[in-house]
Amino acid sequence: LHVNYAPFKDEKGEKSGIVMVIQDITEGQKLDNMRKEFVANVSHELKTPLTSIKSYTETLLDGALEQRDVATHFLNVVKSEADRMDRLVRDLLQLSRLDYQRVNWKNKETDLVKIIEDSVLKISINAKNKKQKLNFKTFEKSIIGFADPDKIEQVMINVLSNAIKYTPEGGSINVAVEKEENTGVFRIIDNGMGIPEKDIPRLFERFYRVDKARSRELGGTGLGLSIAQQIIKAHGGTINIRSKEGEGTEVMMRLPLKG
Ligand code: ADP
Repeated sequence: LHVNYAPFKDEKGEKSGIVMVIQDITEGQKLDNMRKEFVANVSHELKTPLTSIKSYTETLLDGALEQRDVATHFLNVVKSEADRMDRLVRDLLQLSRLDYQRVNWKNKETDLVKIIEDSVLKISINAKNKKQKLNFKTFEKSIIGFADPDKIEQVMINVLSNAIKYTPEGGSINVAVEKEENTGVFRIIDNGMGIPEKDIPRLFERFYRVDKARSRELGGTGLGLSIAQQIIKAHGGTINIRSKEGEGTEVMMRLPLKG
């Protein structure tokens, strides 16, 4: 706590009181620590693929290029590491645009049922590859909200792809959308690995991952949920996660229907 004070004088120049400013520096320090941690995270996340790109290219230049099948394999690794860097930089740029309110929102009257239906369709191939059941259910023909359809689709695809990624082969994912008074309510429920209770409050932090190695292996940047939360918040909505380790996860999103 920082305290600054000065005497307060009236028109006659006599001291009539005191002005005190109390500043909570712990908040400032917290922010500073978060900033430092963020820079450390970004550097590490970029350095890992970069190191691998460098060593594979060096090996290619040292002669591996002569063996065609080896060369092809190495180049595929280089490509996928470059793709990872690309995903990361894109996510970072999007977060920065959200932070500085430089997003060009294209809000309009939008059918939320159609958005989630389309998202389920687009992601269904991933579920199929893991032999998972992906069910979609709604009692509404359409739920009209005021939203940016591309951004909401991005959020849905992100949450759906997490459900698929963190659920083992043969598992199931249930998707539902309902209307509750003036809100559209989306639920994406999986019966996958779940999330330990202590990690749940931190899931929306940038780069926070329950299992860093697993997330990386599955191609995650650890930024998906922070982006999703910012987009939903910008629409005046909420996103909540309930989960039980070993049993499954439910992501619930609410969007107000009047913009
Ligand atoms: P990532 O790119 O790592 O998937 P996200 O921000 O999308 O990053 O998610 C953060 C973390 O939350 C993930 O690394 C994972 O540990 C956890 N998580 C998200 N969705 C699920 C889910 N459906 N089941 C289990 N864990 C999940």
